[in-house]
Amino acid sequence: MPTPRQWAAKGKVRRVTRWNEPVMHGPTRPVTEFGDELHQLIADMFATMERAEGVGLAAPQVAVDLSLFIYHCPDDHDRLRHGVVCNPAVTLPEGNDRRLDSTEEGCLSWPGAYQPLARPDRAICEGVDENGEPVRIEATGLLARCVQHETDHLSGTVFGDRLSTRSRRLLDQQKRQAAHLYPDDWPISPKGTRSAM
Ligand code: ZN
Repeated sequence: MPTPRQWAAKGKVRRVTRWNEPVMHGPTRPVTEFGDELHQLIADMFATMERAEGVGLAAPQVAVDLSLFIYHCPDDHDRLRHGVVCNPAVTLPEGNDRRLDSTEEGCLSWPGAYQPLARPDRAICEGVDENGEPVRIEATGLLARCVQHETDHLSGTVFGDRLSTRSRRLLDQQKRQAAHLYPDDWPISPKGTRSAM
């Protein structure tokens, strides 16, 4: 499998869509064609994620309503893992195996804002890769949060939808305060450096 850098080298940075744009809040279509067009989309997504310094990116975040995401993200052993998952399904632990972790979460489509969100600390994510071959990720640590967050995007759910009213209000406030740092076409145009007032 190509490395994130090898993918990104063949890709072009695209604009990251923001929450409230319709493509972020609707269903996606399953991936059924695993040819050049899909591979170019994946390359563009890696280029975009690298520029935006993200750990995961779902297709709706580059305005494409297809069911796939990419990741380049550490697990709970600080091992950096990467890959592509098309048509993912997430299985979460139940009963005694279910432990919640309340780390802060953010989203490239609501940039500059972070709030704690309780999610199970491990997850199994199954789907197919860029060639249609089965993949199964046993995700822990930040990667467990990442696969849940990205799979949510593919059914039109953003993590703000999972927050309490109070946390959502704080998240939206942080986003407004950071807005001047993120041009509308970010990360095609770079992030600003002016500190928030
Ligand atoms: Zn997101």
